[in-house]
Amino acid sequence: MSVPRPVIAIAGLGIESSTFSPARTEAPAFHPQHGAAVLTRYPFLAEGTPLREAADWRGALVGKALPGGTVTAAAYAELSAELIERVRELGPLDGLWYDIHGAMTVEGIDDAEALLLARIRETVGPDTLVSTSMDLHGNVSRELVHRSDLITCYRMAPHEDAMDTKERAARNLVDLLASGAPRPVKAWVPVPVLLAGEQTSTRIEPAKSVYAAVADVEADEGVVDAAIWVGYAWADEPRNRAAVVVTGHSAAQVAAGAERLARGFWDARHGFAFVAPTGTLDECLDEALASTARPYFISDTGDNPTAGGAGDVTWGLQHVLERPEFKDHDGPTVIYASLPGPGAVAAAERAGVGATVTVTAGAEVDDRHAGPLTLTGVVHCVRHGDRDAGTEVVLRVGSVYVILTRLRKPYHHEHDFTDLELDPRSADLVLVKIGYLEPELFAMAADWKMALTPGGVDQDLGRLGHHRIRRPLFPFDRDMAEPDLAARIIAPSDAPLTGAEE
Ligand SMILES: [Zn+2]
Repeated sequence: MSVPRPVIAIAGLGIESSTFSPARTEAPAFHPQHGAAVLTRYPFLAEGTPLREAADWRGALVGKALPGGTVTAAAYAELSAELIERVRELGPLDGLWYDIHGAMTVEGIDDAEALLLARIRETVGPDTLVSTSMDLHGNVSRELVHRSDLITCYRMAPHEDAMDTKERAARNLVDLLASGAPRPVKAWVPVPVLLAGEQTSTRIEPAKSVYAAVADVEADEGVVDAAIWVGYAWADEPRNRAAVVVTGHSAAQVAAGAERLARGFWDARHGFAFVAPTGTLDECLDEALASTARPYFISDTGDNPTAGGAGDVTWGLQHVLERPEFKDHDGPTVIYASLPGPGAVAAAERAGVGATVTVTAGAEVDDRHAGPLTLTGVVHCVRHGDRDAGTEVVLRVGSVYVILTRLRKPYHHEHDFTDLELDPRSADLVLVKIGYLEPELFAMAADWKMALTPGGVDQDLGRLGHHRIRRPLFPFDRDMAEPDLAARIIAPSDAPLTGAEE
């Protein structure tokens, strides 16, 4: 007879959605998965792995969308109703792993992930233990901590430890269930700082040291997990700010650990700087042209689709194409990734490789900074079947290889370019709608600058016009008084929520 294993459901919705983008996100963008398909998302739950064997894992519903605009009220209602129904169908649960991002903004709703977890709690009852795993760019309210028994997030930006974090959240839940120990004690400290991800990369100081302290705190006796959230800067809810949570079995230890991490973050606030030199787009282009470093990368940051930009802002590409240096075919080789334009893609596809076409693309979603862009160029490549883009077309305009897509797509890997018969390593300039460079691009870049361009994820936060965030908040209130960084011990998830939302 086999030992009874705990029954653990997996559920969650994940997106980073900018309130400053006119784009809206609908339900299909989440590509929801259910049942056994959910387990295939996680290599550490593959058939035969120790963690898989340790529990009876059941996929309820997990949906993850590319970053984008605010989720519509209808999409949230539809997805959360289906998620709740599927959790209910799984029957009595010992545990639930809540796999979310934490920066989902929904029309007319604040703190959407805590609200969804409250509904999950109503469904599963108070005895089910919940482990929540998040992106460090998520936001952590008192209520979200209260409804979770364990809660953690990534410790690296870029998120090279994403899968390690999910595994830790799942393993900590299994261990907690196996131990029969009481519910962990949780110490939460909201830190009144809101910064762009591009200022808080853990590759460089001060975030490197701030995050290095997480492992020290976690190593303390009586601590199960420690986490620091940077928060998400391109949404405008009271919860948007940094936070720390330490969980464990000793109230004194978790409080001390949380206060140490919160103090470390707060004290470092003036030191956070962009991960690469920044400038206007023209300054970046001038420097790139004057430099001998090749390939020279420039991030077109304001419309970064992986932070929540609409992706179809034409402002950056328009500026590139206006530069006289790139008007001739034998000018410096430039790759520009990318601009969505379904009509332009269809026209180029019909004309075929080698044909010269005039097409118009972009600004269908976000036309606040520049209108649709008309380009005349030679079709260099057509590629079908990309998960995000659908169809991709490369158009050569002067010496610029412009990537046009049917739908928006992030360009993070070398193969994203080589699949399109482009060789970024031999290009002079590579411009990408991105913030900090993802690891493969970072390794490839001989030099790199971030252009502070306009869009839904403008890096110049003061230009965006937040009005619902809690004040005072650094750097909006640069000279604010010392905040209260004392640990708030949050009631166990089966007790009533106590303490004011703050
Ligand atoms: Zn993130």
